[in-house]
Amino acid sequence: MPSPVRISFLGGLGEIGRNCAAIEIDGRIMLIDCGIMFPEADHAGVDLILPDFTYLRENADRVEGVVATHGHEDHIGALSFLLEEIPLKIIGSPLTIGMAKNRINERDVADRATFIEVSDGDRIQVGPFDLEFFPVTHSVPHGFATAFHTPQGVLLHSGDFKLDMTPVDDRLTDLAGLGHLAKDEGIRLFLCDSTNAESAGFSESETSIGQSIQDLFRAREGRRIIIACFASHIHRVQQIADAAIASGRTIATMGRSMNNNVGLARDMGLLSIPDAKLRNIDDVEDIAPADLCVISTGSQGEPLSALARMASGDNRWLTIQEGDCVILSSHPIPGNESSVSRVIDGLYRLGAEVIHSGVARVHATGHAKAEELRVMHSIVQPEWFIPVHGEFRHMSEHAKLASGMGTDPEKIVLCSDGDSVLLTDKGIERTDDISAEYIYMAGSVGSLDESVLFARRILGQDGFVSAVITISIRGADAEMVGSPEILSRGWVDGAEGDGLRKEATEEVRDVIEESLRSGVRDRQSLEKAARRTLGRFVNRRTRMRPMIVPVVLGAHEAKQSAKQGNKQGNKNSGGRKRK
Ligand SMILES: [Zn+2]
Ligand SMILES: [Zn+2]
Repeated sequence: MPSPVRISFLGGLGEIGRNCAAIEIDGRIMLIDCGIMFPEADHAGVDLILPDFTYLRENADRVEGVVATHGHEDHIGALSFLLEEIPLKIIGSPLTIGMAKNRINERDVADRATFIEVSDGDRIQVGPFDLEFFPVTHSVPHGFATAFHTPQGVLLHSGDFKLDMTPVDDRLTDLAGLGHLAKDEGIRLFLCDSTNAESAGFSESETSIGQSIQDLFRAREGRRIIIACFASHIHRVQQIADAAIASGRTIATMGRSMNNNVGLARDMGLLSIPDAKLRNIDDVEDIAPADLCVISTGSQGEPLSALARMASGDNRWLTIQEGDCVILSSHPIPGNESSVSRVIDGLYRLGAEVIHSGVARVHATGHAKAEELRVMHSIVQPEWFIPVHGEFRHMSEHAKLASGMGTDPEKIVLCSDGDSVLLTDKGIERTDDISAEYIYMAGSVGSLDESVLFARRILGQDGFVSAVITISIRGADAEMVGSPEILSRGWVDGAEGDGLRKEATEEVRDVIEESLRSGVRDRQSLEKAARRTLGRFVNRRTRMRPMIVPVVLGAHEAKQSAKQGNKQGNKNSGGRKRK
C-alpha cells in the first residue's frame, strides 16, 4: 500500500500571516513556508508573532527543509528563528532566497541553511519529496505554486497568487502547466490561497496601476512626489520608477528594506533603474521639487518607518513642505488601518496632498478574487480540497466556492491552525492535533507568555494599584509595622486619588489585622486577603479594574509549594487555538 501523506498546519489557517504547513512522507518533513505575523493593537508591545515550532522541535531530526513559495514576510520571515533551532534546506526562486537571506543574515544563522535555487518549471527530488514548481503572479516577483508528487498522488499548493493577464514582467501564471498536471495525473489534494475569496470579480492587473500612477505624476508637474509601497513589491517600484523617469524626475529610495530590496532586484536584473537616475538620499533636500521622486517604506503606517517619521516631522532626510504630494500605493492590511490613518492625517497637517487607495487607483491586490479562484478550480479540479491562507471567514467562503465548482462537499476539509490530516488510499482523515499557539516575540528576550500580554492589557487600560504591607512576626505574636502603603500608577490621580488611597489604606489595614488575629502568618494568604479587599474597594468606588498588586513583607512562606494558585492571568485567555 502506498505510504500515507500527513499534512499539519502550524499557522496561517485562521489568520493572515505566519504561514507554515508541514508535509510528511516516509517519516520526513518538508515545510511549505515559514512566515511571521505582524501584531495587532491588542498585542501590547509585541514585535512579531511566529508559528508554533513545538512539533518541529520534537521531530527535529526528521525535518528536511522548507519550500519558500515567495518572498513575503508572512512566508519567509520566521525562517531565521527556525534555523536557530533546526538546520534547514531552503528551496525557492533566486529572488525569494535573496530576500530570505537578507533576513537570515540579520540573525546570523546563514551557515545553518542550505539554499536550493529553483526556476520556473523545475522538478527536483529532495529526500522523499518530488517537487515541481509552477510560476504564479503575485505582488512580489517569482512566486511559485508547488506540486508535491507523492505516493498518494499530486498535492498542489497554490502559493499566494492572482491571475494577472498583463503582469509587469510578462511572467504569467502557468495555467497550461497546471492544466496538464491536472489532466495527466489528476490533483489528489489542492491547498489554495483564500485571502480574497469574499471579493467578487477579478483583481485588477498590476500594469493598470502603473498607468494610473503615470497620470498622477503628469498632473503634478513641478511638485515634489513621495510615494510609499511595500519594499518587496518590485513591480510596483518598477512602475513608479518608470513614471518618475518619464516625468523627468530622478529617484531616491528611503527606508532600510526599500534600499535592500531595490539593490537586490537591480543586481538580479529584475528591476531596471539606470544608475544616472538614482540619487543619494542625503541629497534630497537639495534637489528641486520638480526633479525628485522619493520611493519610501511605511505604506502600512509602521510607527518607525520613513513615512511615519515624515508625517510626524522627524524624518532626518526630508521635511514635508506645503505642495508636496504623498502617494500611499498600498492598501492597509487588516489591523493597520488606524496607524495608516494617523500617518495620512499627519501628512495633511504638514500641508501635503495625500493620495491613497481610498481616493485613487494606486493599488491592486496580489490575491485572486472569487472569479480567479473559479478559474483556478476549473483547471485544477481537485479530488480533495483544503482552503488555506486566510481568516476563517475567507476559508469558509472559499470552501463554498469550491463546492460550487464541482468538488464533492464531502471532500472539502476546513482546517485551522493545529489541525493535522492524513491522506491515504481511502481519502483524508483527521489525526491528532499539533500545538499551534501564537508565539509572541518582543525585544531580545525571546517569546512572551500569553499571561504577560494579559497583564499588559490590564495595565494599559486601568493601570495598577498596589498595597505594600510589612508584618513583624515574633514567636506566636504578629503585628503590622506602620500602615499599609497604597501606590498606584495610571489609575486615579490628584486629590481624588489621594482620598481613595487613604480610604483603601483603612480597609486593607482592617482585613490584615483581622487575618493576623485569626492566626494567619503566611505571605500567600495575607496577599490574597489584601488583593480581595483592595480589588473590591477599587471596583466599588471607581468601576475600574486595574491590576491589584499586594506585597506582604516579613511574613512566612506558605508550606504547600506545589500549588501556584496566585499566578496573574490565564494562559488560555485570548489564546488562539480556534475551534
Ligand atoms: Zn501571504
Ligand atoms: Zn504573498
